[in-house]
This record gives sequence, C-alpha cells and structure tokens, in this order.
Amino acid sequence: MIPLLDLKAQYDSIKDEINEAVLGVLDSGIYINGPNVKALEEEVARYCGTNFAVGVANGTDALVLSLDVYGIGAGDEVITTSYSFFATAEAISRVGATPVFVDIDEDTYNIDVSQIESKITERTKAILPVHLYGQLVLMDKIMDIAKRNNLIVIEDACQAIGGSYKGKRAGAWGHAACFSFFPTKNLGGYGDGGMITTDDEDFAEWVKILRVHGSRRKYFNEVIGYNSRLDEMQAAILRVKLKHLNTWNEKRREIAEQYNNKLKSLDIKLPVETPGAKHIYHLYIVRHSARSDMVAQLKEQGIACGVYYPVSLHMQDAYKGVYDDGHLPVVEQVSNETFAIPLYPEMTDKQIMDVVNQLINLIKNIR
Ligand SMILES: *Cc1c(COP(=O)(O)O)cnc(C)c1O
Repeated sequence: MIPLLDLKAQYDSIKDEINEAVLGVLDSGIYINGPNVKALEEEVARYCGTNFAVGVANGTDALVLSLDVYGIGAGDEVITTSYSFFATAEAISRVGATPVFVDIDEDTYNIDVSQIESKITERTKAILPVHLYGQLVLMDKIMDIAKRNNLIVIEDACQAIGGSYKGKRAGAWGHAACFSFFPTKNLGGYGDGGMITTDDEDFAEWVKILRVHGSRRKYFNEVIGYNSRLDEMQAAILRVKLKHLNTWNEKRREIAEQYNNKLKSLDIKLPVETPGAKHIYHLYIVRHSARSDMVAQLKEQGIACGVYYPVSLHMQDAYKGVYDDGHLPVVEQVSNETFAIPLYPEMTDKQIMDVVNQLINLIKNIR
C-alpha cells in the first residue's frame, strides 16, 4: 500500500537527531515553557519573517486565542472560506462570533477574494483567510480590503508553513497568523502543537498572558485565560524538523511537478498554482466527478487517497439551520469531487510512478 503520508519513514530519516533532542529534554528536567519553546518561537518568527511568535497547544487554540486577544466575540462577524478543516469555523464560533462564509475559487480552492467585500457589514471585525493545501490566498488583495474597511486579518496558515506569495511567507501577511504542528502537517511534532506569528508586540504579549491562565506572574491572574502551552518536548522535536523543512517542501514541489507533467493530458483537474505563489503541497489535490469510484478503485490497487473535505463548513451538522439559505455553489460542487493522492518527501521514484500509472489506467477506463 502506498500511504498518503509516511511519518515513520520521515522519523527513520532523522532518528538520531530526534532521539538526542528528546533525551535532552528528559534529562533537563524542564518540561513546560523551557528553553526549547523560547528558541523555537524565535526560530519560527525568523523563518516566517515576523517580529514575534508564540507557542500554544495546537492550531485550533492559535485561532481561538488570536480572535480572543483581538477582542472578537459575541455580535461580531468574521469573514472566512467555507472550504477548510472545521477548526477554522469552530474557532470563530467558539469565541461567540459568527462565521460569514464566502465561496471559493474554482482553481485554487481558496476563498474567492472578489466576493469578500459584498459580505462586509457594520458587524464585520475580521477576515480569516485559509491557505488551503499549502497555497497562499491572494494576500495583497485581502490586506487591501482589510485596510479600507478597518478589519483585522488572521491567517489560518496551518497547512502552509514555508509557502509564500509575492516573496512573503505565510504568517507574515496578516495582523496575526496561526500554525498547527499536528503530526501530519508539513512541520509536525509527535503530538499536538501550535504557534501564532505577529509583528504586533502588544498582541504577542497578551497571547503569552492568556496561554497561562491570564497571568503574567504565576498565581496572579489578571484576566480569564486558557491553559494552552506548547510542550517543551514537542518544541525540541520541531526545532530539529524546522531545519529540514525547506528541503522537505522543495521535495514536495518536485513530486508535484512530476505529477503535473505526467497527468496533465488526462481528463482530471490538477492543482493550479497562483502566479507569484510558492505552493508547498501540504496536499496534492485532484478533482473528478467520479470521485467515490476513483478513490475506491485506487485503494483496491494499493494507493491510499484522502478526501479534504467531504462537507463544506456551512453545510456541517454543527451549523444545521443556520446557513440553509446560504447557497455557495462552487464549494458545494467541489467538495463532492476533490481528493488527495499520496505526496510526501520520502516517496520513492517507484512509488511516484505507481501512483501515476494506476491513475492513468483508471482514468482511461472510468465511465
Ligand atoms: C490542522 C488545521 C487546523 C487545526 O490545527 P490543530 O493543531 O489540529 O488544532 C486549523 N486549520 C486548518 C486549515 C488546519 O489544517
């Protein structure tokens, strides 16, 4: 079976470095908010091109804390895409605000920027764009809309660490940006983890206060906060992996290019790169109307596929009755047709060719 992702193969390739880092933390006796967390925060800030980065427990908390610190809550509206992992919408609802969903672009599956302004009301406080699958949203346009309408921009960059647009990396565009270190992300730990990047010093300071129960000084609590810290052990692991991230992302791009070249004449929609964007292929997504047959048949041939995501956010049961009249035609169609094929840096040439050949065979014979 060719898996969608092979985390064990990646571990094997950096085993000695990882083991040394983990044992170092065990030996140090410091397990929460130690030197590795601080060092990783500095390294991620430098990597993304921001002044600050603050570690938190996971990507979802990164979103929740960012919204909370910017004072977004009950009565406020946040404009976002309807095509993402549920956490994007969940975070907005969790702070008491209302997600306002926008349809997506047919080619990139990212938010359709041209539809954002028509959704702005006097309640709109923020835009929350998602760099889906590793490709950045048209952030110059988003920042322009935000500036003209006095809105906060929080990037959901959970799938896009190392990706860039017009030479500027994910995380460096918005007022704040959120990252996840869930194991399957391009930079993943061996457990949960998250990070917020920003140039806003006051904001960074408040995230640091909120992540430890609203306290600057232990046992003196200024506000109601959270328990949302990045583990020292995960930080040590992530520092090792961050050094390899560019190599891994380049490898992903190389494999994507091979797929693009070998599959381009087939009757299947391939990923489309935005001019000026460096897509880092967190997922390689193809689109075909016979998705369920194709996914089932590929699986039979030993090729794992994944569906990201089968249901658009405004159609989820959690929002039943809320957006029933909010028809978003593109995302509703696309979510029935897209699927991911295996792409990860440790793939062998043989595995790549197997995926290509099986897909070619299948498309010739389907329908
Ligand atoms: C993974 C992910 C999240 C949530 O991150 P967790 O670390 O799992 O909480 C949020 N948004 C997007 C787009 C993601 O891919």
